Amino acid sequence: MQTAVLIVAAGRGTRAGVGIPKQWRNLNGQSVLSHTLAAFRNVKGLGPFALVIHPDDEDRLHGLDLTDVILTTGGANRNDSVRAGLEALAKEAPDAVLIHDAARPLVSAAVIGRVVDALAVHEGAAPAVEVTDALWRGDANLVAGTQDRTGLWRAQTPQGFRYHAILSAHRTHRGEAADDVAVARESGIAVAIVAGDEDNLKITREGDFDRAAQLMRMKTMGGLPDVRTGNGFDVHAFGPGDHVWLCGVKIAHSHGLIGHSDADVGMHAVTDAIYGALSRGDIGQHFPPSDPQWKGAASHIFLRHACDLAGSMGFTITHADCTLICEYPKIGPHAAAMRAEMARIMGLDPDRVSAKATTSERLGFTGRSEGIAALASATLVRLT
Ligand code: MG
Repeated sequence: MQTAVLIVAAGRGTRAGVGIPKQWRNLNGQSVLSHTLAAFRNVKGLGPFALVIHPDDEDRLHGLDLTDVILTTGGANRNDSVRAGLEALAKEAPDAVLIHDAARPLVSAAVIGRVVDALAVHEGAAPAVEVTDALWRGDANLVAGTQDRTGLWRAQTPQGFRYHAILSAHRTHRGEAADDVAVARESGIAVAIVAGDEDNLKITREGDFDRAAQLMRMKTMGGLPDVRTGNGFDVHAFGPGDHVWLCGVKIAHSHGLIGHSDADVGMHAVTDAIYGALSRGDIGQHFPPSDPQWKGAASHIFLRHACDLAGSMGFTITHADCTLICEYPKIGPHAAAMRAEMARIMGLDPDRVSAKATTSERLGFTGRSEGIAALASATLVRLT
């Protein structure tokens, strides 16, 4: 049975706080929508995929893997968006379709599998969790009565249906409906309940982001914080000049260092250590030497970029350590200033930044004072 996946991501998500809609917000380094798409892609045998977005969000698609995704824009409300997505799948004419909220990024392969399996025998199937809490009716913060919870379920997605049945149900439906099961039942489609999952939460309010991030971390890292160490190495040769820049400090010297930028070998090594911890390439990829705009650039631009990238991926830089390898200039007198300057650029306490030096006992190119080498490590932590 060909089972399409329709992800509805056109909502504005106003309850999750101000700013960008929740499905486009960052969750552990990727957008919520990107996690949601991945959850379905990781289940074998599903497809084609359709994605419904809001017309205002078209510029947010950058960075999202849309291979084999049929993209369409949504209508004024959720029902219109679902109908638009179903119509977009008409050419593919799948046997069945799973309709899923983009704001449920934690949907498991097991839940998806139960819906797919049920569709082999039912026209519709959807996951739900039995209500176990007592239910109250409230009136101005006072309990006004209790509600019998027998036979009550909390509905989740993906909600699965035979494709032609749900398409025709949506074509005839008018107005707002609670979900696609409501639209289906209006048209006489019977919907089986399959076991949902408490972790298949719908990100609705601000606090849901932290909970979702923590659950995701439990699933991927066994609950451990994501601690990473990256290393960096760089070399620049001496050339004509009367000063060098090392770890952000200008030091008078008999030579300068040759480089496309300011040739701050120490800061380059630290920057590469951060990119390394993030598994995001190196300084040359982010700032190509072939690009004239970086000629003579101050290296704090590079270091700041790496720090901002770490922040955007949810990481905190907890420590950086840089070793400069040279006979001259003498580093000791400048080490405190180097630590202070790099800490300032990185927004860290100077106690979390180390700058030190060694010679290579007059051996090799550093020993012959042909250039300076630097190596660095950086430690990054992501808690949620
Ligand atoms: Mg360099």
